[in-house]
Amino acid sequence: MTPQTISIFGSTGSVGVSTLNVVKSANARETRFNIDVLAAHNNVEALANQAIAFQANMAVIANADKYADLCVALSGHDIEIAAGAAGLCEAAARPCHRSIAAIVGIAGLPSTLAAVQAGNDVALANKESLICAADLLKAEALKSGAHILPMDSEHSAIFQVLQDRGDVEKLTLTASGGPFLDTPLDQFATISVSEAMAHPRWSMGQKISIDSATMMNKALEIMEAAFLFDKKADEIDVVIHPQSIIHSLVHYQDGSVLAQLGEPDMQSPIAYALSWPDKRLHTDVKRLDLSVLGQLDFYPVDPIKFPAIDLAKQALQAGGAMPLILNCANEVAVSAFIAGQCRFMDISLIVEKTLAAYAGLETRAVSPNSLEDVLKLIETGRQIAKKFLI
Ligand code: NDP
Ligand code: MG
Repeated sequence: MTPQTISIFGSTGSVGVSTLNVVKSANARETRFNIDVLAAHNNVEALANQAIAFQANMAVIANADKYADLCVALSGHDIEIAAGAAGLCEAAARPCHRSIAAIVGIAGLPSTLAAVQAGNDVALANKESLICAADLLKAEALKSGAHILPMDSEHSAIFQVLQDRGDVEKLTLTASGGPFLDTPLDQFATISVSEAMAHPRWSMGQKISIDSATMMNKALEIMEAAFLFDKKADEIDVVIHPQSIIHSLVHYQDGSVLAQLGEPDMQSPIAYALSWPDKRLHTDVKRLDLSVLGQLDFYPVDPIKFPAIDLAKQALQAGGAMPLILNCANEVAVSAFIAGQCRFMDISLIVEKTLAAYAGLETRAVSPNSLEDVLKLIETGRQIAKKFLI
């Protein structure tokens, strides 16, 4: 098989490193993938080591102040070097078989958009860019012929079992419930950053771990599923499934429900997004043994402890810029929580207040359809949310 070219934006993060593990394991027998671009934000050392180990053609550091450090770290190696926001977008526009969007937060939007506009198939982990600019990304994908392939485990599960989109009645996203599933509400006020980071099932980056603890991650995933699979808020359910073995379910009109199962390891959905539509890749993911597992549990979400789910459904129903505003408010609130400027339970509250304040504005945007409009709205959302920081 001719090797395929892959570029990874956010290569030093949790998803980026897992993607490189999948590539390494797939290449062990024959070279299936070559790496064109690897990109990170600040972590020069890890980026340079990855670029050398995987013989990448290009390394990009988004923080332009680190350009000289990257040049030193890669001196003597035949690897192109670029830096800054423009360097990132130019690198994203280079042709490749699969562009991995694994930057965290809305910072991932410009490079994801550049990849889509260049006609590159994007394997999307960076849910925030889709939530902020679904119409724009989908319109550009239609123009360029790029596919947007889900890499989030739940959405990969749905993608894997979605045989005939016309016969689908409903999607169910499973949620582990995060570290505070059984914590009484009256203890939420004192939850620390390190407690919120300790996810029981998945090993992930800082922001998504905190999003999982508030269940805002599942809220973002409802919107992600709506945009990926063209579903309305009332066609997407969430069920708590603490073992994270079933990654999501598709309900068909004849009463059949198809699910995708596996050990909770991002390497499986990453491998699927890399190999699609060709045959599956071999990975070293631990194999599932149901007889050892014994049982799988399911519960409804407690809407009082985890208001994020209802907020996402309301934002989807309201449409227009509301999903984007929800995402911006959450990013502001999560940063404030990490910096000790607000309590854990304030995160959802800040999101709720920001949505209400934006809904009350007279000059609300309908649906942003250019990057400039999206970036302006992101700034508006961030400014409103910041007013609610105590
Ligand atoms: P991490 O925090 O572990 O990694 C983030 C990556 O993005 C790093 O490579 C970081 O570089 C880079 N980055 C951060 N800011 C910028 C910026 N401004 N410009 C360019 N690069 C930047 O995050 P995760 O891997 O956990 O998550 C990445 C995305 O994938 C998120 O959108 C998340 O929601 C999604 N996702 C993650 C899953 C997981 O298991 N982790 C599962 C499903 C989805 P540096 O190291 O230099 O700071
Ligand atoms: Mg997920």
